[in-house]
Amino acid sequence: MSKQRTLSIIKPDATARNLVGKILGHFEQAGLTVVAAKMMTLTPEQAGQFYIIHKDRPFYGELIDYMCSGRVLVSVLEGEDAVNLNRTLMGATDPKKAAPGTIRALYAESIAANAVHGSDSAENAATEVKFFFPELK
Ligand code: UDP
Ligand code: MG
Repeated sequence: MSKQRTLSIIKPDATARNLVGKILGHFEQAGLTVVAAKMMTLTPEQAGQFYIIHKDRPFYGELIDYMCSGRVLVSVLEGEDAVNLNRTLMGATDPKKAAPGTIRALYAESIAANAVHGSDSAENAATEVKFFFPELK
């Protein structure tokens, strides 16, 4: 596996509890490098477009409201097998099912307010990185 990039979002529940430093620490400790980052408050248009693959799911409306409810730290992580490594560090979507020591097991509040987003494939990572960082080389 060669160097790869993935998109990470530290979600509003986690930024509100001052967990940005701790969560970035998990990535860096595992060998991922933060190559781009910005703190922002998403508009409903941005969040709706970003999560468009979930538009028919019952939780879509709540997900968009939640993602716009506070600041998020959007970042690009780079390293060996970055997409899968980040997903492993994050843990399962539902924190009750997340492996011990993972970001969601440690910090998520619920299946909805679950602290982090991470791209789930190399293809989606490329799309998501471009969505937030079109200028990134
Ligand atoms: N989500 C939710 N209820 C669910 C499943 C997902 O509120 O039953 C939210 C949650 O914030 C999750 C996001 O929708 O992180 C995207 O869902 P996905 O299945 O893609 O999970 P992820 O890739 O984030 O683990
Ligand atoms: Mg997903």
